[in-house]
Amino acid sequence: MKRLLLAAFLLASTVSAQDLVIRFLDVGQGDAVLVTTPDGKSMLYDAGRGRAAAELLRSFGVKQLDLAVMSQGDADHIGGFEFVAQAFKPRTLLNNGLAASTQTYARVLAAFQAAGTQGLRATARTINLGASVKLQVIPAPSTVPAKDQNANSVGVLLTYGTFKMFLGGDAEPSTTKGWAAAYGPQLRGVNVYKALHHGSKHNDSAAWLSVLQPKVVVIGVGPNNYGHPSSEALALYKNIGATVFRTDVHGTVTFTVKTNGTFTTSVSKGPAPTTTTKAVPVTPLPSSNVTYANCSAVRAAGAAPIRVGEPGYSRKLDRDGDGIACE
Ligand SMILES: [Zn+2]
Repeated sequence: MKRLLLAAFLLASTVSAQDLVIRFLDVGQGDAVLVTTPDGKSMLYDAGRGRAAAELLRSFGVKQLDLAVMSQGDADHIGGFEFVAQAFKPRTLLNNGLAASTQTYARVLAAFQAAGTQGLRATARTINLGASVKLQVIPAPSTVPAKDQNANSVGVLLTYGTFKMFLGGDAEPSTTKGWAAAYGPQLRGVNVYKALHHGSKHNDSAAWLSVLQPKVVVIGVGPNNYGHPSSEALALYKNIGATVFRTDVHGTVTFTVKTNGTFTTSVSKGPAPTTTTKAVPVTPLPSSNVTYANCSAVRAAGAAPIRVGEPGYSRKLDRDGDGIACE
C-alpha cells in the first residue's frame, strides 16, 4: 500500500504547477475536453453523454469549473453537463444560442440554471482563462443553415505561449469554409486539433486541414453505428502527417504543455503512438468483439466495472444507463 501511494505521488508530481494540462476525456461516443491552466482555472468543452465526464473531473481533482462550453446542442456533446453542472457549478456557459428541442437539452439547461451559471452567447471574442491561456471564440459564420446544430458548432482556438489547440465541435464544411476565410492565418499551425464530428467522412476535408496543418489529431469516439471514425478522415489525418489519438483506443489522452510550447502526451490505456510531425501508421481498431452474458460473467473475468467505450460494455449490462456497466 505504501509503495502504491508513493508511486501515485511521483506520478502526480511530474505535472508541475507551471504546466497547462489538456485532457481529451474517454466518455465513449462523444466529445469532452478538460483544460486546466497553470494557475488552476478550468474549462470543459463538451461533456459527452451520461456521468463519465463528471466522474473523470472528480478523479482529476476538479472542484469548480470556470467555463463550460457547449459546442452544439446534441446529446453526445451536452448530455453529461447535467451531472457536471450539478457537481462543479460552472461560473459561465458559452454556447451557440441555438436551443435544441430535446429533453436532454432541457435537463441540461435546468441544471445550469440551478447551479447559478451565467450564460454567454458565442460571438467573436477573446476570453482569458487565467493569466496565461487565451481562448479565442470563433463562432459559426452567419452563412451556415440557421437551425443546423452541427453547422453552428462553436470553435475555440486556445493559445498558451506558442502552443495552439483548435476545437470545432461537429462543424460542417459550410462552417469550416467560413472559418478558413475569416481566420485562416490565426488557425495556421495548430499543435493539437480535435477531429470534427468524431472523424465522420463528411466534416474534415483536405482543404480545411491544410489551413490548420495540425501536428496531433484527437478523435472523441466510442462504440457507434455511424462508422466513426471513417477511413476517409483517418486517411486525411495521415496524409497531413498528423499523429492520431482516439479515445476508444487510447482512453483519456492528456497533453501537458510547458511555457515554452513543448508538450508531452500520455494515454490512459494501450500504448501511445509517438508524437511526431512525420506520418505514422494509424492505430488499428481494438478488438471489441468481447461480449458478456451478464454481470456475473463480467466479474468472473475480473473486468468489472466496464465503462462505455471499453471492450465488453453494452447497454444491457448498464441498467442505470450511467455509462458504467456492472459497477
Ligand atoms: Zn457529435
